[in-house]
Amino acid sequence: MKLILLGAAGSGKGTLAKKITRDFNIPQLSMGDMLRDIASSGSELGKKIADYQKRGALVPSDIVSDVIKERLSQSDCTNGYILDGFPRSLEQAEILKGITEVDAVISVELPFEELEKRLVSRRTCPKCGDIDNTEYEGFTGNCRVCQTPLFQRDDDKPEAIKARLEVYKNNVTPLINFYSDRLFTVSSKGSPDETYRPVKTFLDDLGA
Ligand code: ADP
Repeated sequence: MKLILLGAAGSGKGTLAKKITRDFNIPQLSMGDMLRDIASSGSELGKKIADYQKRGALVPSDIVSDVIKERLSQSDCTNGYILDGFPRSLEQAEILKGITEVDAVISVELPFEELEKRLVSRRTCPKCGDIDNTEYEGFTGNCRVCQTPLFQRDDDKPEAIKARLEVYKNNVTPLINFYSDRLFTVSSKGSPDETYRPVKTFLDDLGA
């Protein structure tokens, strides 16, 4: 099963991807994580990527295209995957089409004000990537999965958040039309489990 997950920063897209990975046994390919990994290597390419990410701007498509091609060639992708954060523009959707077709596109939707609110209080685990929120009950500052101290991503600071949400709106809205024949839309206003329930039903039917 080859899936694309669309959803703005803070929409709960990553959380949803983890649940799909668990139940359907396909890897989550997070473009943001892959780019952050390269950025943290400190190479020339990494420095270039870090500069785009810090500003909340899109990394150029030629770089992103090389990253995804390399990742899709790995052996864990043979039974399918969830693309999280790619494609992020029509240009990237065309690139993907040249590589493979996808079975379904899931769009996670949440109003703009809610996204902003979730992002400023979001904290990330540097080790396992788990995400928590200072506003959630039981928040301790340490990762719930591996107990590592959580941190705030540079681009989860208010200036970058506005830029990211704006970039998202402009670039991803056309994708909704591009994939209209295989689109499933879900609201993430409720809890992670409430968001996941209709998605699971949809994917069960798709896989059947
Ligand atoms: P979010 O979706 O929460 O903004 P991500 O981790 O998906 O966070 O992305 C963080 C940053 O990584 C983006 O703001 C952008 O700079 C870069 N990035 C991620 N995916 C892509 C992509 N498909 N194309 C270009 N840049 C990307």
